[in-house]
Amino acid sequence: MHSLTKTALSFNGIGRRCVALNRFSEARIICRGLTCAAEHGEHENELYDVIISGGGMVGTAMACSLGLDPNLEGKKILLLEAGNKKVMDKVPDAYGTRVSSISPGSATLLSVGAWDHIMNMRCKPYQKMQVWDACSDALITFDKENLQDELAYIVENNIIVAALTKQLENLSDQVRVQYKSKVVKYIWPKSHQVADAIPWVQVTLANGQTLQTKLLIGADGPNSMVRREAGIPTVKWNYDQSAVVAVLHLSEPTENNVAWQRFLPTGPIAMLPLSDTESSLVWSTSHRHAEELLQLDEESFVDSINTAFWSNENHSELVETAGSLFRTALSVLMPSAGSARQLPPSVAGIGPKSRVMFPLGMGHASEYIRHRVALIGDAAHRVHPLAGQGANLGFGDVACLTQLLNTKHRAMQHLLEYETVRQRHNLPMMAAIDLMKRLYSTNAAPMVVLRTFGLQATNTLPAMKAQIMAFASK
Ligand SMILES: Cc1cc2nc3c(=O)[nH]c(=O)nc-3n(C[C@H](O)[C@H](O)[C@H](O)COP(=O)(O)OP(=O)(O)OC[C@H]3O[C@@H](n4cnc5c(N)ncnc54)[C@H](O)[C@@H]3O)c2cc1C
Repeated sequence: MHSLTKTALSFNGIGRRCVALNRFSEARIICRGLTCAAEHGEHENELYDVIISGGGMVGTAMACSLGLDPNLEGKKILLLEAGNKKVMDKVPDAYGTRVSSISPGSATLLSVGAWDHIMNMRCKPYQKMQVWDACSDALITFDKENLQDELAYIVENNIIVAALTKQLENLSDQVRVQYKSKVVKYIWPKSHQVADAIPWVQVTLANGQTLQTKLLIGADGPNSMVRREAGIPTVKWNYDQSAVVAVLHLSEPTENNVAWQRFLPTGPIAMLPLSDTESSLVWSTSHRHAEELLQLDEESFVDSINTAFWSNENHSELVETAGSLFRTALSVLMPSAGSARQLPPSVAGIGPKSRVMFPLGMGHASEYIRHRVALIGDAAHRVHPLAGQGANLGFGDVACLTQLLNTKHRAMQHLLEYETVRQRHNLPMMAAIDLMKRLYSTNAAPMVVLRTFGLQATNTLPAMKAQIMAFASK
C-alpha cells in the first residue's frame, strides 16, 4: 500500500507561492521560504517544477520529452548530469563500443526530434533475429511478415545521447541543463509539515549549489542515489557474468541485417549489425572468462568469437536425438511452420581499443514513486542485456511519465498510475529475461532437452512469436 504522502504532490501551483520573473537566466524568484537567487549567485535555491537527476540516455530523453510537450509549456525543468556535455560535431569513423538495440516503440518516443538526428548520424536497422542453443539444434527466428519492415535498430549509445543533447539545445527555452553537476545530497519534504518547513525536495550539488524542486525524477542509473536516499527498497543481485563488448570487422561484406544470439552454457554471445562490414559483440560469460578474453591477442580473441558461434562441441547425442524426433513430430503437425537455420558471418578482426567488460546484474525498485519523487530507467530497473531491453524499458518509462504529467491539474495519485502501468510492463519482461538467463546457464541434458522442445515449439507458432515481438517492441 502506498502511504498518504504519495497523494500529496500537486505538479501545478508554483505560481501561487512564487513569482518567477524570468524563467531561467536571472532567477529572480520571490518565494516564501526560498532565498533570493541574487544573494547567493545564479540559480541558487531556485525552485523548479521538475529536476531530472542523471543525464544518461533515459534522463536526457525525459528532459527532451517534457521540454517538447506543449501542455508543459511554462514549467521550469532542469536536467542535472554529473558528467560532461556529450556533443558530436562529426560522427567519428570508428564505431562506439557501447550500442543498444532500439525497439520501434523507443524509436517512436525518440522521434520527438532526436530520431531524425540519429538517422542523420548513424544507425543500422535490422530485419531479422536468430537465437539458437549451443547445446542442441534448437533455434528461433523473429522477423516481420514483410521482411522490409525493421525489427529494431542498432544505435551507438553515444550517438543516442549526442542526438538527444542536440535536441535539448533546441529546447533551451523549455529545459535548462547543467553538466558537471553531481548531486551529493537530497533533503526530502516532511509529510507532516511544520509551519516554515520547505515543502519541496532540496537538491545539493558537489559545488555547494542548492536547488529545490516540486518533482524529482531519478534517472541516475543502476546505483541510483535518488533511490537509495529516498529509502526505496530494491531487489537486486549480481549475476555470475560480465559482458565483453567490442566492435567486430567481418570477413567479407554482407547485407548484415540479422541480429545473432547464441546461448552458450557460459552465457549468451550476440553479434549485432552496425554496417555491411562491421558488427557489435556483446558476449556475456563468467567473470574469469571475460577477463581472459580481454587479455587475449586479437587473433586468439577473434578465433574465440568464431568458435563460440560455429562450434558444436556442446552438442550431445542424447539431446540431438530427442531434438530431431521432436522436430520431425512438429513438422508433421505443422509442415510449413518453423524456419531454416542461417549461419552468422565470420569475424576477421576487431576495432582498435574496442574491448571492454561490464559486470552484469539485475535490480528492481519495489516502488517507482515516493512523495515528490519518481524513478525511471536503470534507477528503477536493471536487466541482463540478453534481450536488449534495458534502455527500451527506460524509454517506455519516459513515454508513460510524460503522458501522465502533461495533463493539467495532475496530482500525485496519477504518479501512482505511472508506477502501476510501468511495473505491469517491466516486471514480466524482467522475469522472462531472468528466467532465460537461468534456463540457458546449464548444459545438463534434461534441462537442455526441455528448452530445446520449448524453443522448437515456439518457433513453429507464428502467433506466439508475433506476441513476443509485439511485447518486446513496445
Ligand atoms: C553490455 C550491455 C549491453 C546492453 N545492450 C542494450 C540493448 O541492446 N538495448 C537496450 O535497450 N539496453 C541495453 N543495455 C542496457 C542499457 O545500456 C541501460 O539500460 C541504459 O544505459 C540505462 O540508461 P540510464 O540513463 O537509465 O542510466 P545510465 O546510463 O547509468 O545513466 C545515468 C546517468 O546519471 C548520471 N548520474 C549518476 N549519479 C548522478 C548524480 N549523483 N548526480 C548527477 N548525475 C548523476 C551519470 O553520470 C549517468 O550519465 C545494455 C547494457 C549493457 C551493460
